[in-house]
Amino acid sequence: MPQEIIIAPCTGAMVQVNKGQYVAVEDIDGGQVADFFAEALGQDEEFLSTGVTIDCNESLRLKVGDMLYTNYYNPMFDVVCDDVGEHDLLHPSCRREMFDFFYHNGEGHPNCLDNLNRSLGRQYAILHPLNVFMNTRIHADGSIAVLAPISRPGDRLVLRAKMDARVAVAACSVSESQCNAGRCTALRLLVGGKELV
Ligand SMILES: [Zn+2]
Repeated sequence: MPQEIIIAPCTGAMVQVNKGQYVAVEDIDGGQVADFFAEALGQDEEFLSTGVTIDCNESLRLKVGDMLYTNYYNPMFDVVCDDVGEHDLLHPSCRREMFDFFYHNGEGHPNCLDNLNRSLGRQYAILHPLNVFMNTRIHADGSIAVLAPISRPGDRLVLRAKMDARVAVAACSVSESQCNAGRCTALRLLVGGKELV
């Protein structure tokens, strides 16, 4: 049986994923973004890098068969299954200052930076997660727009670990835009074997 964690709206969770194990992020209600970040187990300075992932895959997008890389250019996860096909490698985690910048409501607002840091027992000054299910349009002129996710209830992204890792996932706290289709909902995180594929 896979290990299952329900991530309540606007919260985060951490789980250890060993090399060869699968980790699935499931959108329970549809339209919900998951901030996915990971650290190499026992290697304080090595962690998931979306910039390196863009570099190595030579793409701003992520598809089945692609790899997620660490800041040291080591393979961390590969993308095994994807029900959605729209994820974001560009945006940092939402944070108090982001809510202040756009909505003037950062004080006391739940946010992914705090939720990921709390889950990991860390104090990263900024985090660039894989934003699972986040639907960012990249236009030819370089401008971007964040649209509502196209993920439906039960849709999953399944990754396979290439190294032992501590994985933190936050159910994104933005209800002010279309990022989470205007409402914050829960996620399911599953860790296990081939039964997740
Ligand atoms: Zn967020």
